[in-house]
Amino acid sequence: MTNLSLDLREKLKSEFVFRKAELYSKQISRDKTIKVAFRLWDGNMVEGVLIPSSKRMTACVSSQVGCSLSCKFCATGYLERQRNLEPAEIYDQVVLLGKLAIENYQIPLSNIVYMGMGEPLLNYANVMKSIEHITGEHGLGMSPQRITLSTAGIVKMIRKLGDEEVKFNLALSLHAANDVRRTSIMPINESNDLESLAEALNYFYDKTGTRVTLEYCVINDTNDHIEEANELVVFARKVKCKINLIEYNPIQFAEYKSSGIEKIEKFASVLEKNKLIVNIRRSRGKDIDAACGQLANKL
Ligand code: SF4
Repeated sequence: MTNLSLDLREKLKSEFVFRKAELYSKQISRDKTIKVAFRLWDGNMVEGVLIPSSKRMTACVSSQVGCSLSCKFCATGYLERQRNLEPAEIYDQVVLLGKLAIENYQIPLSNIVYMGMGEPLLNYANVMKSIEHITGEHGLGMSPQRITLSTAGIVKMIRKLGDEEVKFNLALSLHAANDVRRTSIMPINESNDLESLAEALNYFYDKTGTRVTLEYCVINDTNDHIEEANELVVFARKVKCKINLIEYNPIQFAEYKSSGIEKIEKFASVLEKNKLIVNIRRSRGKDIDAACGQLANKL
């Protein structure tokens, strides 16, 4: 800004910093998924993912550096939580992933998912502010219906989203519909059990009219038996929902394996027979550790 005096420019430089997220590195998968490492102003790193598909161009963003919830099947859960991201650091990820979408595929972003590193509802105020910027006139002007926030299940905060009558979508990372089994892979379930989650999701639906998505990673010999499909039927009938069955992606920190597509389809058929809405989500970007549950700052 040469219209400012040199003295003033020096003063600004020495006393202020722009706390922006910068693109540090990127990897492109065989299936065109792009994983990006973002470097934050304090040297911390988080990851975001751009997922192109025939109908959508989705940006998956992080909300925290590391995560405190320690889900056993998730690589981020093995990284200590360092801090919450600021609203602008989340917004920057969206903008930078949007630029990559144009540069690489000449298609603008159509959807944003808060499914990267961290639990968005434990960084509630900053996540809400970032969504305000993304949807606001002064920001990207994106429809909130194109945004999905995914939570491991913080009952109090799901109710708060309902009270605020938010317009974006909500997904619950469920992964088991039996309290003992769920607590064994997601310790947060101990204090936020299935019954209280079902009540909170119904409260959210009553307040917003939005059907939630239940995300269920199908993990070999862990949650993929017919008995577990039947447990999922019981839980899903309690809430207005649709179900995404996700192919599990192995991580270096744990022994879990994917069930394979045949078992997943068999699991899905139990749900479908019970008239539930089910989608099977194939894994994307797993050759570059960009798939669901694989984000661990492995550059
Ligand atoms: S699944 Fe989500 S909440 Fe659980 S450890 Fe991973 S990032 Fe955290």
